[in-house]
Amino acid sequence: MWLLPTIEVCVLTAPGPLNSTAGSLFVVATPIGNLDDISARALKVLREVKLIAAEDTRHSQRLMQHFGISTPLAACHEHNEREEGSRFITRLLAGDDVALISDAGTPLISDPGYHLVRQARAAGINVVPVPGACALIAALSAAGLPSDRFIFEGFLPAKAVGRRARLQALKEEPRTLIFYEAPHRILECLQDMELVFGGERLALLARELTKTFETLKGLPLEELRAFVEGDSNQQRGECVVLVAGWTAPENEDAVGSEAMRILDLLLKEMPLKRAAALAAEITGVRKNVLYQVALDKQKAE
Ligand code: SAM
Repeated sequence: MWLLPTIEVCVLTAPGPLNSTAGSLFVVATPIGNLDDISARALKVLREVKLIAAEDTRHSQRLMQHFGISTPLAACHEHNEREEGSRFITRLLAGDDVALISDAGTPLISDPGYHLVRQARAAGINVVPVPGACALIAALSAAGLPSDRFIFEGFLPAKAVGRRARLQALKEEPRTLIFYEAPHRILECLQDMELVFGGERLALLARELTKTFETLKGLPLEELRAFVEGDSNQQRGECVVLVAGWTAPENEDAVGSEAMRILDLLLKEMPLKRAAALAAEITGVRKNVLYQVALDKQKAE
């Protein structure tokens, strides 16, 4: 049985000094489909800790049974994490090692755990990552899209207005974009991406990763949307959507950022032809080049 908390858990962001008598909090990744993806280290940790904090204890019980692990499980989900976190901290401060797991993949990645990890670090508890499966990294590793820089956006807003506004804000993001999406919204999501990013932008749908019906389909958004629209099976299962980052039209690169800034300002005030002519006079860049850039921009908007 848990003891009542004996400390006031502080929620400062800065970690306290490491408490050498406390146990460690192990943040353990579990499989996202294929159970063989669990690491030997994860299994060892889950066997050896005194308690496992799990997003859904019934769900994780099946995983534990599969691997013959009998460590007790306690719920740590988004609804109780803030309040109940102090109970886990109490156990840790008493010297017990605790593992944190979510239903699938890496805890804290669109999953609970952030508040517990933050509280543990603030209390000077050693927090140890035990890495493993993560859907966004698995998808990126096989997508063939630039992977040197990327951004993870998690789930987009469920309603169209919010979703489109978020996509609009990301329209000129040059890094590869990664989203999680629910199967019943995948079609609307791709439709909105096509609308905002344009049908030619390259994208990839990574579905049911590591499972029997794993599908990775990379196509321009217009074709990817049509592919998903035409096959209801593609609207099932778990999915990650990756979208290539924005690249400036070739001419725009050649024009330079200062000339672009001036052209953009003038375009807000006057017709395209006049704006290109005036920008050419101010910047010395050729009028027909600026005219073409302005036209390309207008088409893309
Ligand atoms: N913590 C998990 C991780 O490390 O990836 C993510 C948990 S989040 C609640 C669940 C979402 O992750 C799903 O809706 C889907 O977008 C993505 N996901 C999880 N497993 C997946 C899989 N096997 N294939 C594709 N996407 C997956």
